[in-house]
Amino acid sequence: MQNCIFCKIVAHEVPSLIVAETDQILVFKDISPKVAIHDLIIPKKHIQDIQSLTAQDSALMGEIILMAQQLARDLPGSQSFRLVSNNGPAVQLVSHLHFHFLAGKNLPDF
Ligand code: AMP
Ligand code: ZN
Repeated sequence: MQNCIFCKIVAHEVPSLIVAETDQILVFKDISPKVAIHDLIIPKKHIQDIQSLTAQDSALMGEIILMAQQLARDLPGSQSFRLVSNNGPAVQLVSHLHFHFLAGKNLPDF
């Protein structure tokens, strides 16, 4: 999608620090990390938000959760993490579905 920063990252038109990649998913470092480990897990195809998902996206969503599992497995020391998705204009700055993978020391209380 034109003018979508995350689509541009998928297309390598905008640089990012890539953590992991599959056919359908990209994981990259958040440009403005809120905690020690702050990655973004996104589908490569443009989906606006959770509300836009359909039954056809079930396998994709399963892959995203398993990617979070894999990232946690690879963490040194701790497997504690949060997976957060902001949905809707009041809380979502980038209108391309994404999941914040938040981990590391001193993860603040929710
Ligand atoms: P939100 O849509 O509120 O869940 O937040 C969007 C997130 O995307 C923020 O944490 C930003 O720091 C992050 N972000 C925005 N632009 C980039 C970029 N070019 N590369 C990496 N992360 C980004
Ligand atoms: Zn997009």
